[in-house]
Amino acid sequence: MKPFQYLRPSKLKAAIEMVSGDPQARYIAGGTNLIDLMKRGIVAPEKLVDINHLPLKKIEYKTGVLRIGALALNSEVAAHETVLQKHPLLAQALDSGASGQLRNMATVGGNILQKTRCTYFYDTALPCNKREPESGCSALEGINRLHAIFGTETENPAKTCIAVHPSDMCVALAALDADVLLSGPGGERRIKIADLHRLPGANPELDTNLERGELITAVEIRDNAFARNSHYLKVRDRASYAFAIVSVAAALDIDNGQIRSARLAMGGVAHKPWRLIAAEKSLEGQPVTESSFRKAAEVAMVGARGFGQNDFKLKLAPNAIVQALLTAAGIE
Ligand SMILES: Cc1cc2nc3c(=O)[nH]c(=O)nc-3n(C[C@H](O)[C@H](O)[C@H](O)COP(=O)(O)OP(=O)(O)OC[C@H]3O[C@@H](n4cnc5c(N)ncnc54)[C@H](O)[C@@H]3O)c2cc1C
Ligand code: SF4
Repeated sequence: MKPFQYLRPSKLKAAIEMVSGDPQARYIAGGTNLIDLMKRGIVAPEKLVDINHLPLKKIEYKTGVLRIGALALNSEVAAHETVLQKHPLLAQALDSGASGQLRNMATVGGNILQKTRCTYFYDTALPCNKREPESGCSALEGINRLHAIFGTETENPAKTCIAVHPSDMCVALAALDADVLLSGPGGERRIKIADLHRLPGANPELDTNLERGELITAVEIRDNAFARNSHYLKVRDRASYAFAIVSVAAALDIDNGQIRSARLAMGGVAHKPWRLIAAEKSLEGQPVTESSFRKAAEVAMVGARGFGQNDFKLKLAPNAIVQALLTAAGIE
């Protein structure tokens, strides 16, 4: 690993100045992703700005809004009383990720900004447009079983990337329509989680719409009517400690056997957590039946395409949507 300078500011402004003013500087929180990337030579920051001493750990609920500090640990959020009571979908998604030890180190901000797990991104001997722009995409003709089926269109195939965003938590946050709070050299702003990550387009090296030096300070979720009927379904190769092949966050607001509103998002299918707005709309006013769910799954799959080894996701994804909705509705 390349030597680096280590800094530990206790003020937000100082931390932001340290990173925004230096292209070689990076924030570090739990380090569970960044240190792996550094050990493998995928990134080599000259300066690590440890943000663990910033006051960003609180989880608090005020006037209908749950605010989760960016440094709250994944395990703390999953076990928090208000999260369990108001947004159990988020707790379920978090509990399905990684291992107990990792969840005790991983932070909310780091989870949102973790890098893809595409094997080729981690293998510096092989071409990868995300790691090295315009070098090629080894996954296109290679091992792409875990890769994207949505949002892969590109005008320039030489710049393509079919990697997926690996976070479970972000899928639940997308379904819960969470806001992400940012602080940067230009001040503070908030962004919908659905707008934070980006599709690869012509710049697969960019994962997000964050500006240089912007720091995630918190995530906010407004009260909703989904707590009673929600479910996070994660399909994976083994029961724990495995990334999603496909995952679904499903939430229903049910009134007298009819769906008043629905939220659906998927993981393991796109370069970003994939919100299924058209499928959500198709469920509104429909009876709570398997047939309504199957129709929504059909709507959800419009535009999906496989790349060979991951063609099975074209069947698995709609089945997972139906199953997640059935479980959320309390039918199966
Ligand atoms: C073996 C293994 C299995 C895993 N399985 C899963 C899984 O099944 N599901 C899942 O969702 N995840 C899984 N993970 C990923 C894990 O959840 C992430 O590594 C973790 O959430 C990252 O959080 P961190 O605080 O350690 O981030 P770090 O490694 O410290 O940082 C990650 C990135 O975020 C940036 N960053 C961190 N905090 C901030 C902030 N507040 N503002 C701006 N930038 C910031 C850093 O600069 C870095 O680029 C797994 C990880 C491992 C190693
Ligand atoms: S899918 Fe993306 S991350 Fe994977 S090899 Fe292709 S360009 Fe790299």
